[in-house]
Amino acid sequence: IFLPHLVASMEVEETYLMIKPDGVQRGLVGEIISRFEKKGFKLTGLKLFQCPKELAEEHYKDLQSKPFFPKLIDYITSGPVVCMAWEGVGIVASARKLIGATNPLQAEPGTIRGDLAVQTGRNLTVDAQGMWFMGSDSPENGKREIALWFKDVELCEWSPVQEPWLRERY
Ligand code: UDP
Ligand code: MG
Repeated sequence: IFLPHLVASMEVEETYLMIKPDGVQRGLVGEIISRFEKKGFKLTGLKLFQCPKELAEEHYKDLQSKPFFPKLIDYITSGPVVCMAWEGVGIVASARKLIGATNPLQAEPGTIRGDLAVQTGRNLTVDAQGMWFMGSDSPENGKREIALWFKDVELCEWSPVQEPWLRERY
């Protein structure tokens, strides 16, 4: 039977995710990447990167008018971040759930923020502003953000050996 709604919900999405400077400083890079790997998503891009101010401002341009914007930019550029491109069925909504609410005190236990962070403005590091990890808002934004942070040659198309065990074919 052909079930269009089912097919649509099985669409593969790509999204940009990033470990913010306190995640790197606190040695949580492996822990965070591991959560997405274990879930069954596919890593297609990965780099440690010192983010220039201009790029941070472009990435967060929708938040430009917010009072916390300057601190957010300082924070994001305060040390290396880990840039990641991930792929998977339903990954955008799922990543938001795995990451948890913006305010870590409201984030559920079991989420990255709920388990590992305390404050929106100070995520476990004294000077930290903002969350140390973020998911993209929609599939379209995910694509735009990947292009903002990665060159084409830095992204890999590959087939994990576990794929048939993760994705049921209809
Ligand atoms: N942020 C902040 N104070 C706030 C709201 C947001 O410092 O009151 C920072 C925080 O680092 C957050 C980022 O801005 O992760 C982006 O905000 P958004 O609302 O998109 O939250 P997210 O998608 O990261 O949960
Ligand atoms: Mg957001």
